[in-house]
Amino acid sequence: MAQKKIPARQCIGCMTSRPKKELVRVVRAPSGEISIDLVGKKPGRGAYLCPDPDCLTKAKKKKALERCFEQPVPAEVYDALAVQLAAAAKEAAADGKKE
Ligand SMILES: [Zn+2]
Repeated sequence: MAQKKIPARQCIGCMTSRPKKELVRVVRAPSGEISIDLVGKKPGRGAYLCPDPDCLTKAKKKKALERCFEQPVPAEVYDALAVQLAAAAKEAAADGKKE
């Protein structure tokens, strides 16, 4: 039986492994710029978060992003992530209702 392997990644907030496509990717470009990767194809080092603002809060509390990227993470990145995750969480809830 050939079964496709689903790539899993660990959320840096709650440390739960989930399929990659269910997570939001944050990427540090080779230039050092940190941004949210919505298509999952930006080059650079990636960190993953559940589309859940709680996970961002957890990650922030333990400086998981800073540790992952080995550099300070500007407050704007956290702000942008908070907005992004809230939107993603809303979308996930809407998807759930559809089914
Ligand atoms: Zn999580």
